[in-house]
Amino acid sequence: METEPQNVIEPQKVVTLNYTLKDSDGNVLDESNDGNFTYLHGANNIIPGLESALNGKQPGETVDVSVAPEEGYGERDPTKLQAVPRDMFPADAEIASGMQFHAQGPNGEVLVVTVVDVTGDEVTVDGNHPLAGVELNFAVEVLDVRDASREELEHGHVHGPGGHEHE
Ligand code: ZN
Repeated sequence: METEPQNVIEPQKVVTLNYTLKDSDGNVLDESNDGNFTYLHGANNIIPGLESALNGKQPGETVDVSVAPEEGYGERDPTKLQAVPRDMFPADAEIASGMQFHAQGPNGEVLVVTVVDVTGDEVTVDGNHPLAGVELNFAVEVLDVRDASREELEHGHVHGPGGHEHE
């Protein structure tokens, strides 16, 4: 009779990992290699394509996975590109391409919009996630897997080092 390993990645586990994220041209988009990235598995804390690739993995394992946009930050939506009047921005702010602002979405959610063009009195902003439409190539090393606490499961996120700190 074999004993089930207790530290396999599955829902309700807290996972610590290192990762490097590259686009399809090999540019590094993001990385965390100091053992400080931790998340609650099965709680939509990370993108679906990465979460499913990590199912069943154990500490010490490495995972290389390419995540298509539909399993990542979605496809780019051209209707999220829109021109807004310059006077919607602070008058004393220098508005330039690449700047990011927080805006309110139709359901009250916070959106990050990126300025893509400034022409006279008009500013063109892109409401797509900066990684929408991008193929995401992750190289992951699983460092630690532990049971989530009841409180973490209720909150849907990790507490303590590398996690959410409450007042
Ligand atoms: Zn919490």
